[in-house]
Amino acid sequence: MPFPINEASPIEHSGPMPDSADCVVIGGGVVGVMTAYWLARAGQSVVLVEKGRVAGEQSSRNWGWIRCQGRDPAELPIMIEAARHWRDLAPQLDTDIGLVQGGVMYLAKNAAQMASYQSWADFAQGQGVDTVLLSRAAVLNRLPGAVGDWPGALWTASDMRAEPWLAVPALARLAVKMGAVIVENCAARSLDMQAGRVAGVVTEAGLLRTSNVVMAGGAWSRLFLGNCGVQIPQLSVRASVAATEALPDVCQIAAGDAKIAFRRRLDGGYTLAAEGFHELFVGPDAFKSLAKYLPQLKRDPFGTRLLPMAPKGYPDAWGTSRRWQADRPGPFEVIRVLNPAPNMAKMNRLRAQFAKVFPAVGEVRLRAAWAGMIDTMPDLVPVVDHAETVPGLTIATGMSGHGFGIGPGVGRVVSDLVMGNDPGFDLTRFRLGRFSDGSAIDLGGDL
Ligand SMILES: Cc1cc2nc3c(=O)[nH]c(=O)nc-3n(C[C@H](O)[C@H](O)[C@H](O)COP(=O)(O)OP(=O)(O)OC[C@H]3O[C@@H](n4cnc5c(N)ncnc54)[C@H](O)[C@@H]3O)c2cc1C
Repeated sequence: MPFPINEASPIEHSGPMPDSADCVVIGGGVVGVMTAYWLARAGQSVVLVEKGRVAGEQSSRNWGWIRCQGRDPAELPIMIEAARHWRDLAPQLDTDIGLVQGGVMYLAKNAAQMASYQSWADFAQGQGVDTVLLSRAAVLNRLPGAVGDWPGALWTASDMRAEPWLAVPALARLAVKMGAVIVENCAARSLDMQAGRVAGVVTEAGLLRTSNVVMAGGAWSRLFLGNCGVQIPQLSVRASVAATEALPDVCQIAAGDAKIAFRRRLDGGYTLAAEGFHELFVGPDAFKSLAKYLPQLKRDPFGTRLLPMAPKGYPDAWGTSRRWQADRPGPFEVIRVLNPAPNMAKMNRLRAQFAKVFPAVGEVRLRAAWAGMIDTMPDLVPVVDHAETVPGLTIATGMSGHGFGIGPGVGRVVSDLVMGNDPGFDLTRFRLGRFSDGSAIDLGGDL
């Protein structure tokens, strides 16, 4: 089955693109879509340009977990807000996005992990989140028929799941209903600068005048920003996912242990993935940023498999242009929808692994398998900040593998940054300058 959102998908949003807007958002993933939604709701004129299709990249390819559990302490308050938005927004959408409060469970591998779960639970409870530690007996009680030697688990009953490839396109339609203009198949090539500040965005369809731009380009953000003189040490890693055929309903909880992560799908199957495993195509950016990633590599030396080079046209491929002129097609017009091939050997092993955990499912067959390029940062938290050297530019990127759930909250925060309002949270940890002001890389407190 081809991935449902691809380069051949019909264009749902064709503009027309106006000449100017209060704000232009670059990127039609969950972060860009939700930023556009909140800006439009606040009465701003906003145009979102997407080089391919809304939610064609990470925002449709993820596991669909909407979780407070395990978040970095600085992200948690925004995620708590985001969870509220998911509940409020779902009934307003024109599609059932499969939003279910099934809870999220991290199955521990040993006592040391239980101890780290305990300290996260203590912190979360202080923030009003219902996270608790479960004993082995309590785990087996919640996962009837499951087989595993877990000593216990971390459990958040209020966490949710949804179907990403239904949810984000539906949120985009809601943003349009609020007044946002979305233009698909329209790459932003560069910023138009006048008198030292942003005056517009040069797109492949022409100049769009604005004094505020939000860069929410996911895996492509580093490339775009680099051409504007803004450096971020963002890299992308390939993460593979599979969806099974319909199976008996053995578990409504989104759960994972050291080997496998799974969650029930709206179509009666399960989404499966290898927990904590991803692949990095080594390119020039990876070499340049290596030192900043050493703390991550030391903490988890086997979590990242290195692959020699990215396919042609990928953001960090050896042949991808780093500098280009705005009057001709740039790298964003080469690949409209980043659609990496999944690691099928790994996906096939997950079938057996899932049947081992839940023998009652019988034979597990895959309906589909795909991969996404996760845009990650050295300290596993995003940049959500104004770019001081480029007045008018706000950056919201590097969600580091957990931006789907928090997207509606990040979008609200970014919309307030753009409008010059107090975003309501301490964003110090997400500042752009942390990579250039001599700060040490802080891996923070996510699990
Ligand atoms: C396999 C996988 C599993 C994951 N699981 C989860 C999960 O369970 N829960 C969770 O919370 N998160 C999860 N994530 C992470 C989550 O999907 C991402 O953090 C989130 O979708 C990022 O959204 P985004 O809008 O920043 O980027 P994206 O969704 O990648 O969107 C960026 C968009 O910008 C467009 N773009 C880029 N450059 C330009 C340009 N110059 N002009 C116009 N358009 C441009 C791209 O085409 C793209 O559509 C997972 C990710 C993957 C890949």
